[in-house]
Amino acid sequence: MTNTVTPEALTFECETGNYHTFCPISCVSWLYQKIEDSFFLVIGTKTCGYFLQNAMGVMIFAEPRYAMAELEEGDISAKLNDYDELKRLCLQIKRDRNPSVIVWIGTCTTEIIKMDLEGLAPKLESEIGIPIVVARANGLDYAFTQGEDTVLAAMAARCPKQVLEAEKEERAGIQKLLSFGRKKEEVAAEESEYVEHPPLVLFGSLPDPVVTQLTLELKKQGIKVSGWLPAKRYTELPVIEEGYYVSGLNPFLSRTATTLMRRRKCKLIGAPFPIGPDGSRAWIEKICSVFGIEPKGLAEREKQIWDNLEDYIQLIRGKSVFFMGDNLLEISLARFLIRCGMTCSEIGIPYMDKRYQKAELEMLEKTCQEMGATLPKIIEKPDNYNQIQRIYELKPDLVITGMAHANPLEARGINTKWSVEFTFAQIHGFTNARDILELVTRPLRRNHALKDLGWDKLVKEEANV
Ligand code: SF4
Repeated sequence: MTNTVTPEALTFECETGNYHTFCPISCVSWLYQKIEDSFFLVIGTKTCGYFLQNAMGVMIFAEPRYAMAELEEGDISAKLNDYDELKRLCLQIKRDRNPSVIVWIGTCTTEIIKMDLEGLAPKLESEIGIPIVVARANGLDYAFTQGEDTVLAAMAARCPKQVLEAEKEERAGIQKLLSFGRKKEEVAAEESEYVEHPPLVLFGSLPDPVVTQLTLELKKQGIKVSGWLPAKRYTELPVIEEGYYVSGLNPFLSRTATTLMRRRKCKLIGAPFPIGPDGSRAWIEKICSVFGIEPKGLAEREKQIWDNLEDYIQLIRGKSVFFMGDNLLEISLARFLIRCGMTCSEIGIPYMDKRYQKAELEMLEKTCQEMGATLPKIIEKPDNYNQIQRIYELKPDLVITGMAHANPLEARGINTKWSVEFTFAQIHGFTNARDILELVTRPLRRNHALKDLGWDKLVKEEANV
């Protein structure tokens, strides 16, 4: 055995977990929009309600398909009957909205009072005739985007094993969309363009245009996507059988990946995530290699995208970026930005699954070596107070952080980008790389445009007591 010593390797540290992030129940805001026939019921307190109401901004006025089941004193002291209370609410939801699924989101309070949601759901489900999926997306255990992970992990268990003939037509949603307006023979001819390979299901909730883009990207290589978890509708959840291949689109889906592997006996394709042209290419190449397909035209495609991005890259090349860490996209974004020529000394991240993100971490290491950049420190469960001290020392050109720190840092002359936007913007695939750089460069462009005003520091010097 040869013992090769790598000169540098990524270093991992873990701090106190004293950091700002969104509560994972926020996932209802994008999941109710993605799954059109769903209804999300968050079983919690006013604290949870206030958070959702404020975090969702204007969406709250658009009659969203989510609601709070607000616990009262009587629920907490077990004077009221949980089952009857939930039944009353679910019947009301059925009457008013008639969804195909109700998702119960467990919160900190349901955890602490040990409300047995998983036990209540099957009984109520059979009584009211609507599937009830339980996800414990609470702030005790998870951060922000991990909320989606808990919901998808619960849904993975609901994916059918086989579809009845009658349902097939209804399920061919995405395929139909792609062949819209074409004749049957043309569609059949197109089917033959696919290479023979085992079924592939992709998981991760992405906006529909991105779903179409990535499906088409794979189609160019002859790879057919059999289904997406989640689909546009709950009734269209993909068929998953033993031996199917699955691939994750987002770095925060480790529980879903585990559920698919352990409970549904799928094979996980561990690849870097399709964020940035480098990540998108690596993702497609990995899938191709698993299916024994020679990838076509990817190098040219990647180069063309990089050429297109040059105007933005000029603004950030040689600049430094600091990730405070709150949404788990940090490793992929840092890898892409380092490839763009930025340097990064610290990547904060709420939770690091080294197994699920293995390929992404390797790619980060490789990117740093190829770009001659020093390897960043990865700080799991960061401490925001300590991070602020480090930011003062390092004076990075850009800090990617939450709203709690953005304005205070700006007032001290430090450029910031609000991290949550990366979760809601379309950032996956080749074509959306521009959107990422649009976000990253915006504060730099704005502050550059305003610099002649001379107001870059807006706080009084701190008093030395
Ligand atoms: S952290 Fe807990 S109490 Fe706070 S909003 Fe989230 S689930 Fe509710």
